[in-house]
Amino acid sequence: MIEENVRKLFGEIPEKNAYGEKVTLVAAVKTQTPENINRAIAAGITDIGDNHAQEFRDNYPLICGNPKRHFIGRLQTNKVKYLLGRTYLYHSIDRLELAEQLNAKSLAANIVSDVLLEVNIGGESAKGGFEYGELPRAYAAVKAFDGLKIKGLMAMLPESDDEKKLRELALKMRAAYDGLNDGGFSFLSMGMSGDWRLCVDCGSNMIRLGTAIFGARNYNR
Ligand SMILES: *Cc1c(COP(=O)(O)O)cnc(C)c1O
Repeated sequence: MIEENVRKLFGEIPEKNAYGEKVTLVAAVKTQTPENINRAIAAGITDIGDNHAQEFRDNYPLICGNPKRHFIGRLQTNKVKYLLGRTYLYHSIDRLELAEQLNAKSLAANIVSDVLLEVNIGGESAKGGFEYGELPRAYAAVKAFDGLKIKGLMAMLPESDDEKKLRELALKMRAAYDGLNDGGFSFLSMGMSGDWRLCVDCGSNMIRLGTAIFGARNYNR
């Protein structure tokens, strides 16, 4: 099933978005067993994204094929140590305190960590991320950290059937991405199993899919 899902997705996901940028598929692996993650990798998945730092740490030695490791979940500052130096891209820099801590630990380890700023595009109280209006200030503050390199933005659209509204929000994200891009941006990470087509249409170039690859999640495992 996983193999079939991956094959099908690679057939459906356009190689390039409307901006001519390559679209990267990141498998969202929260709650998945290492066996299932490895099956996805064997089927062609090159990038995997974790939500939980401990899961990342515990699964780390069990993952085969050396995929790029993304961190896409809410990150507590005391868990940064599990990820440092092993993470290709941190998608979910959602507050300055986290940026500060990741910067300090990166500098201490003599590395530069690539990050995306997470934007709470729907203005939802249950979601993390910088408010849209505070993005320029957040960008300037994080840009000043020598241990971090901002590679773009990340967002989760609200759950909604209002496609017009979702398109509006996705295009707003693309506008922010283009507006802040100083030439160093590579990734607009936006799109999950339910809305990735719309997001790629609106200029996303990195999508994070869980359910579409692995099926419905079992949180009781
Ligand atoms: C779980 C998760 C996804 C994937 O969600 P699906 O709807 O299962 O594709 C993407 N991004 C983040 C941040 C997630 O936590």
